[in-house]
Amino acid sequence: MNAEIITVGTELLLGQILDTNSVYIGKTLAEAGIDLFYKTSVGDNVPRLKSAIEAACARAEIVIITGGLGPTVDDITREAIAEVTGKALVLDASLLKQIKSFFEKRNLLMTESNQVQAYLPEGAGIIENKNGTAPGFIMAHSGNTIIAMPGVPHEMHAMMENSVMPYLYEKMGGTVFSIKSKTLHIGGMSESAVNNKIEDLFINSKNPSIGILAHWTHIDLRLTVKTDSQKNADKVLNELKEKIYERLGGNIFGEDEETIELAVSKLLMAKHLTLSTAESCTAGLLSYKLTNMAGASGFFMGGVSVYSNEIKTSILGVNEKVISEFGAVSAETAGEMATKCREKFKTDIGVAITGIAGPEGGTQSKPVGLVYVALDIKGKVQFFENRFGTGREIVRSRAAQVALFKLYTALKNS
Ligand code: ATP
Ligand code: MG
Repeated sequence: MNAEIITVGTELLLGQILDTNSVYIGKTLAEAGIDLFYKTSVGDNVPRLKSAIEAACARAEIVIITGGLGPTVDDITREAIAEVTGKALVLDASLLKQIKSFFEKRNLLMTESNQVQAYLPEGAGIIENKNGTAPGFIMAHSGNTIIAMPGVPHEMHAMMENSVMPYLYEKMGGTVFSIKSKTLHIGGMSESAVNNKIEDLFINSKNPSIGILAHWTHIDLRLTVKTDSQKNADKVLNELKEKIYERLGGNIFGEDEETIELAVSKLLMAKHLTLSTAESCTAGLLSYKLTNMAGASGFFMGGVSVYSNEIKTSILGVNEKVISEFGAVSAETAGEMATKCREKFKTDIGVAITGIAGPEGGTQSKPVGLVYVALDIKGKVQFFENRFGTGREIVRSRAAQVALFKLYTALKNS
């Protein structure tokens, strides 16, 4: 069985509200093993909604529509569906009674326009709405099933759960399929490098399938499997996961909800090590990330944001000569920063970042995006030169991420 989603509302197109309805429906369908190949958002416009419904009906068996069922002039879903299916909108007396009683119970005045909500395309089955006035409906249309629900998320969720999913399960003959996914987070590799290592697994497997998603700071590999039981899904997913760990193990820092900062925190706590930070171009981003988790006080002692050269020397105690000889953005200065920080804060580890975030300040030999990360672990200093390209925000987030990943690698191997 396959489905399509159409979300209706001009506000969705103007970026005024986020389309969370299709996220919810997509997830719910996936859990039931119903394929979803397309979703469309369309404004409050009858001809455009009609053409969206017609296109969806040509591609998918089930068409699920949310929004535009309210009582106002811009609520046009009822009308568009009636036109596509060639059915008249007829008044449902029992529905009208329900709507009236909804208003009475809440001591609200029912306006003339609310009556519109008691009209449904002829032959449609009602989906009860316990939380609002607009009912939904299900109707058959030349081989397709069209399902319409109101746009208000909590009303729609209840209808999906209580009416739509039971209806779809029954339609599928009671076979419940399961789709499961797992995401592996990879650091220190480019998208193409990841691709080269696992391309064969990719190409030869449609189920389970693998998707690569590149972020500014890391790469995600999403493994998805579709089987007839939860137990089988876990088994297939774990087998694939193991193959990927064999090839990329050193670079996988976490799964699903695990962030790099969480991975680092766990290692620091397990090894009973303390940490401090000295940041120039990231000015606190690294310490912010390290303290996102509860319990950070167990390993994080503090950090300094040492932006200017003067502060690097006066506050942190970086040797002035190192800065004048090698420059503020250099491996030498980064190393000094890490060491001075470790000493000042009396921690096991000092981490330092210095670089050129841009857009100004780059030179031929030291371009925008050049960032040095240094680790001083109990007196042993390592530095890493990075060239992150342009984009102030990108450079800064990558710098913090790389510092965390280098720290993670060093801790794991120590
Ligand atoms: P109502 O009876 O409230 O008018 P409706 O079926 O006409 O319901 P809309 O008017 O399209 O639905 O939307 C009502 C509210 O629901 C919107 O203001 C918006 O906050 C929310 N909403 C609508 N569509 C979506 C969507 N796709 N994702 C998230 N929220 C939505
Ligand atoms: Mg509305």
